[in-house]
Amino acid sequence: MKFLFLLMLSVTQVMAHERSVKTKADKLAFGQFTEQKSHRWPFPLLSIGHNMQSYQDYSGSPYWHDGLDIRAVQDQPIYAAAGGKVVNIQNYVRGNHLYWEVAILDEDGFVWKYHHVSEETITQEIRNSYSSGLKIAEGALIGNVVQWPISSFGEVYHHLHLLVVAEDGRYINPFLMMDPLSDTQAPTISKIGLAKNHKPIDGTQVTGDHALFLEASDLVLHKKFILPPHKISYRLDNGDEKLVWMFVNLPSGKNDVDYIEDFYMKGTCGDYNCRKFYFNLNFSIQNPRGVFNLPVGGHQIEVLVEDAAGNKASKSFQWKVL
Ligand SMILES: [Zn+2]
Repeated sequence: MKFLFLLMLSVTQVMAHERSVKTKADKLAFGQFTEQKSHRWPFPLLSIGHNMQSYQDYSGSPYWHDGLDIRAVQDQPIYAAAGGKVVNIQNYVRGNHLYWEVAILDEDGFVWKYHHVSEETITQEIRNSYSSGLKIAEGALIGNVVQWPISSFGEVYHHLHLLVVAEDGRYINPFLMMDPLSDTQAPTISKIGLAKNHKPIDGTQVTGDHALFLEASDLVLHKKFILPPHKISYRLDNGDEKLVWMFVNLPSGKNDVDYIEDFYMKGTCGDYNCRKFYFNLNFSIQNPRGVFNLPVGGHQIEVLVEDAAGNKASKSFQWKVL
């Protein structure tokens, strides 16, 4: 009985949030991302459910969310944020009606992958473009958001999972391609502290090698669906500002698992019932779990976080190396 329950639970969870599935559309992208674009949102959104850097762990193998979960009302029509050629229509989790992709290659070389489109609503114009190569215009109707069977944090979770692919198949942050949202809520820093062996610890004194963690979150047009901030940086002992990461793209470029367990520390969670983010302030690509090697004595760090709309917050922490 217990086994059956667990089985059902895991099936449910697999249904809930997709891994970013690579499709043939990824290979067609050649766009080089250099600056913020301004595309209209595919529909008037309810809120953002997940962003590209959201930590996902439904079965013990964490991964980056990669796309943007744009929350929708039931049966919401989806309009193309960018025009172009339809380069893929695919049931990318075969046999599961929740996982249909419509992919559009725009004239700048970016592939826009619309996931969770209801297959029977995909328009004839979209199907014709796919078979004939004829371009569709920005704003063309693609189809409707599929009805999502599962709720999260007590809310229905109908959503479009939007991915934007650039050259070399790298996913870039869809936020940077879209019109700004009326998001005036700054990220929140709950805690900064010491870490040993990639795990937050209590206290303000430490011996030897150590790292620092940041607990922080952001909200975009919602009260419960917390998200990781867009940008994290710090000033150590009043030095220059050092960037930990800014999510123009993932640290790994195109892989949805690389560095996830370095950037996020132990204690982080991201599933239906738990969202908590402990960031490793020592993260760098060169030394992903790097530790501070600081002289004995007192130290101070000022951490700065920013969301995709430019709202900022900062907080300081002092500690002593014995
Ligand atoms: Zn998603």
